[in-house]
Amino acid sequence: MSRYCGPVRDCAAEECLVLQALGRILAEPILADRDFPPFPRATRDGYALRADAIRIVPATLRVTGQVKAGSSFHGAITSGEAVEIMTGAPVPHGADAVVMVEYTSRAADQVVVQRTCVAGENIVSAGSEARAGQEMVPRGLRLGPAHIAVAAAVGKTTIKVCKQPRVAILSTGDEIVEASQTPGPFQIRNSNSYSLAAQVIAAGGEPVQLPVAPDEESKLTALVQQGLMSDLLLLSGGVSMGKFDLVEQVLASLGAEFFFTGALIQPGRPVVFGQVARSPGQFVPFFGLPGNPVSTLVTFDLFARPVVESLSGAIPERRTAAKARLGKEIKTKTGLTRFLPAMLRGGVYDPEVEVISWQGSGDLMASARANCYVVIPPDRESLPAGEMVSILLR
Ligand code: AMP
Ligand code: MG
Repeated sequence: MSRYCGPVRDCAAEECLVLQALGRILAEPILADRDFPPFPRATRDGYALRADAIRIVPATLRVTGQVKAGSSFHGAITSGEAVEIMTGAPVPHGADAVVMVEYTSRAADQVVVQRTCVAGENIVSAGSEARAGQEMVPRGLRLGPAHIAVAAAVGKTTIKVCKQPRVAILSTGDEIVEASQTPGPFQIRNSNSYSLAAQVIAAGGEPVQLPVAPDEESKLTALVQQGLMSDLLLLSGGVSMGKFDLVEQVLASLGAEFFFTGALIQPGRPVVFGQVARSPGQFVPFFGLPGNPVSTLVTFDLFARPVVESLSGAIPERRTAAKARLGKEIKTKTGLTRFLPAMLRGGVYDPEVEVISWQGSGDLMASARANCYVVIPPDRESLPAGEMVSILLR
């Protein structure tokens, strides 16, 4: 078995408006354009003073002025003095602390301070959050609301993001018809192309939905070749042991190298992963995902998502694993790691999870009622109610 050698964490970049960059992968670091904060900033409303002037309290100081956010105090503070200061205002020279207004009483130009404080209290010193030129957000990160705020804070109206990888999606099966068609009595609408396209978008890729491929070698081969023009090819269906499961055979005939064929999981056991050379030295990775709708959803999440993330220039994120109290006993069989659609509910301090009753990995409706998977280790036959079980959030 050889190492996956597709393009990882390298991306072509494009410039986009700052808000449109939400969810995209940052192609160049965001740097501080000045010190953050640019001046020593008061974090409370109160009085700027010298901490050593109020070592014994109550202490009476003379108020020599006022400074609000956006302005500055001209002059400096000496030991017996204080300046009334508002949150966000620059701390006057000579002051080394801000005492909260709640701990003071004021009469004319005198303020009586009731509590001591230490030097530095309620002040964020200039440059302590970031120095001018310092990296505030590294490249490769998926941009969330806080990163968008950082971009705005350094004055960026546009951001360089990685171009999204094109991910071809090819559903296979003689029984599958397009979602827009009226199925015959034994036909099934193509839902997998849509779950996969949605998952690709969520992972930072651009889906390319191909027409459904029949279980027929030459037509399947032609559509696979079309799919290999993208950066990644996702196939659904046709990877099991059935007589008309032709996906592996077609890929092999195109010179595919398989990294794995099958995984000891349920749903999703027949999943395959490999690559095909598009031209000498240029490889296109592919996944053959089982066609049962829940298997398709789970195997994308477990295996394909990190590859889409890598291709999009991102540092792949680990799945969020958590523990929750099992509401109802689960009985299962040993041998496979199971990912059962489940519903997580309950409060922050007592999350409870219950597996959704389902008709097996074809039961798309069960998956639509779930918001997580309960993960059952391969050596467990039953999990009693009340046990803290592992869950994967979707
Ligand atoms: P397969 O993996 O091809 O053996 O298909 C397994 C099951 O999934 C069969 O019941 C198929 O009808 C169903 N299936 C396969 N592809 C799709 C699809 N694109 N959308 C919905 N169901 C599918
Ligand atoms: Mg099939």
